[in-house]
Amino acid sequence: MGGAGERIHWADVVAASVKQDTEHRIATGITPSGPIHIGNMREVLTGDLVYKAMKDRGLAVELLYIADDFDPLRKVYPFLPESYAAYVGKPVSDIPCPCGEHRSYADHFLTPFLSALSELDISPRVHLASELYRSGAYTKEIATALGHTAEIRHILEQVSGRTLPPDWAPFYPLCSVCGKLSPARILEHDPARHRVRYKCACGNEGTADYSRGEGKLVWRVDWPMRWARFGVTVEPFGKDHATSGGSYDTGKEIARRVFRVEPPHPVIYEWISLKGKGAMHSSKGVVVTITEMLEIVPPDVLRYLIARTRPERTIDFDPGMGLISLIDEYDRVSHEGAGREYELSRIASVPTRIPFRHMVTVVQIAHDEQRLFQCLARTSYDVTNTANILRQAERVRVWLRKYAPDSVKFSVREKIPIQVGELGEEDLRALSAYLEFLKALPAWSAEAIHNGVYEVAPRCGTDAKHLFELVYLAFLGQARGPRLGWFLEALGREFVTGRLSEAVYPCVL
Ligand SMILES: [Zn+2]
Ligand SMILES: [Zn+2]
Repeated sequence: MGGAGERIHWADVVAASVKQDTEHRIATGITPSGPIHIGNMREVLTGDLVYKAMKDRGLAVELLYIADDFDPLRKVYPFLPESYAAYVGKPVSDIPCPCGEHRSYADHFLTPFLSALSELDISPRVHLASELYRSGAYTKEIATALGHTAEIRHILEQVSGRTLPPDWAPFYPLCSVCGKLSPARILEHDPARHRVRYKCACGNEGTADYSRGEGKLVWRVDWPMRWARFGVTVEPFGKDHATSGGSYDTGKEIARRVFRVEPPHPVIYEWISLKGKGAMHSSKGVVVTITEMLEIVPPDVLRYLIARTRPERTIDFDPGMGLISLIDEYDRVSHEGAGREYELSRIASVPTRIPFRHMVTVVQIAHDEQRLFQCLARTSYDVTNTANILRQAERVRVWLRKYAPDSVKFSVREKIPIQVGELGEEDLRALSAYLEFLKALPAWSAEAIHNGVYEVAPRCGTDAKHLFELVYLAFLGQARGPRLGWFLEALGREFVTGRLSEAVYPCVL
């Protein structure tokens, strides 16, 4: 299609540009300090697409997700009660969950995120930073960093242009009195016993054993430290880390000069913004979480959204009609059954889908499960996988409630709309001719029902557009609606001919 098929997919470009004769580890990581939104999701999806491309190339590769749950809570976010002020500065793994149903604050946001990952067919090896620090997994690297404090400070000042205080250290102890990860002064370092003596801003002077998680490396050092610890060779990250003098630039130097490893191949990605819902989502600062996103977007389509766009390009996602176009586009490439974007997006376990547009019509006709299945059966879709169908219907209902424009909404009137009583003789004659056409149809099929309008209208001296309006009026009390043939097919022959008879011969009833 338009030469697009010739282009090498961006994930394959990454896979081809890394060393071919070594083991690879792709690292992704998100701090679970708030709802994980669709923009954050781009990180893991980008990593997963590269992972699949590398596997397809026959490379030995592993995908990691490191949850930064040992990061401190930075502030009381708008979605938190004021009482959380007491927890600012403490690791999010040690703070209570806001709803009371999770093990910790971090878990509250991680749990739905991890289930979204599995729905999206992403299965990384998951590590929790809190466990890594507390199990001593980083002991050797922390000792190295502390042993190179002067050199790291020099790199940070030179590369980032910042000036650091003379007693700066790359390690924040977890203060035994105030419980915070604080930029305390490090008074002494004993690498043999993996301990530091520190003086915290709260006044406490204490000892922290970093082999037991009593402290954490600062972010700019923590990052290259993981590259060394895990042997990370590829890493996607947001453009905020990629600025000149930013954390990737300083990380590269620290990796080479302090940890003696090569930095990973960077895959820099842009943000995702939401169109249409601007007012609701940006001015009030409300984000669309990944869970909310999966309430309306099928998981393979969400993969496709990320796969079809090069990482360095912004995605302006429109959850209204834009979602329908996206799904249509995905369905088109899936019918062609080829194309790298489709291969990388496809999820084997996702059963075939009823077209989203059709579902939009059907759920507005059928208000209960039984009618939903009757409608779908009439329209010759496979309805054997009921759980899957109900799931699809629910996505469409949420979409209609939250994102759909009014132009796609309708409701079938239970009784004949009063406007029909005001129609003139010519209009009634056209409706009557269409009714006769429908009665005579050998098979109740959408296309034939639809094309009938074009056949009947000229015979009655009217145009098709007007006849469409008349038919919509009889069912919806408005002049427009979903694609007529598919709409009437779903409504069923008996109901349709009954309603039209009532419109044309009101006195008979
Ligand atoms: Zn919770
Ligand atoms: Zn303290």
